[in-house]
Amino acid sequence: KGERLRLPPWLKTEIPIGKNYNKLKNTLRDLNLHTVCEEARCPNIGECWGGGEYATSTATIMLMGDTCTRGCRFCSIKTARKPPPLDAEEPYNTAKAIAAWGLDYVVLTSVDRDDIPDGGAEHFAKTVSYIKERNPKILVECLTPDFRGDLAAVEKIALSGLDVYAHNVETVRDLQRHVRDPRANFDQSLSVLRHVKKVKSGVLTKTSLMLGLGETDAQIHAALKDFRESGVDCLTLGQYMQPTKRNLKVEEYVTPEKFAYWEKVGQEMGFVYTASGPLVRTSYRAGEFFLKNLLE
Ligand code: SF4
Ligand code: SF4
Repeated sequence: KGERLRLPPWLKTEIPIGKNYNKLKNTLRDLNLHTVCEEARCPNIGECWGGGEYATSTATIMLMGDTCTRGCRFCSIKTARKPPPLDAEEPYNTAKAIAAWGLDYVVLTSVDRDDIPDGGAEHFAKTVSYIKERNPKILVECLTPDFRGDLAAVEKIALSGLDVYAHNVETVRDLQRHVRDPRANFDQSLSVLRHVKKVKSGVLTKTSLMLGLGETDAQIHAALKDFRESGVDCLTLGQYMQPTKRNLKVEEYVTPEKFAYWEKVGQEMGFVYTASGPLVRTSYRAGEFFLKNLLE
């Protein structure tokens, strides 16, 4: 007890590097953009940046700084009560950089900024509309905070011109308090996803669960059912990995077979898209899927 679990063989992967990878990496160096891909040392970076079978490239850009007002126990991001103010130029500069970057699909995400009245919703929305102005072909996904359930903030982003609205519920209902910051909860997150469909039904909604935190199959089933009832279109399930010693321990390494089982369950339950696997992350090969399936 108290020992760390050993890493199973299916997580000891070689990172594949596609041909666009170096191009993106070099361009990024000249731009003042922070990607989650690099900062989280995401194992999918070669595939996402390199473009997969359909040669699309995806990256996840972090807005509103690197310091969060919350402290979820699974996350290693820096925390402060009052992080530095927003950079008012960021929406414009990000859009300019992204348009020049040649991505097919971009995910905009952020830390939680409970210190700002609208949580940064306006900042998100501006970034989306500037990107679309410069390059209407690029698909934009926002992976947003819960805005403490402020639906006016959610609506601003839902109506900004984006294609996919993602908000992660992160874990099953019964583990919310154990895993997420106390200001987050299951129903508040569902209300965000429901509101997006209510105000803009054509936007795809998407959520994600981490597995391996001690949840049971029945709890996962119940969560998936709640997602469907809230109109969630897309689902991703991935393995929780402990980022630092101070974070929650991994309770279980879920096998690839079990992830495949959940993918089947998701498909049967009627999600438009279910991605489930040990290395699947919220934005994993998102562009590839959406370009292939939704725009043909
Ligand atoms: Fe970046 Fe997300 Fe792909 Fe990881 S899965 S490389 S964070 S876009
Ligand atoms: Fe990390 Fe997001 Fe939680 Fe902030 S709100 S601590 S960025 S998971």
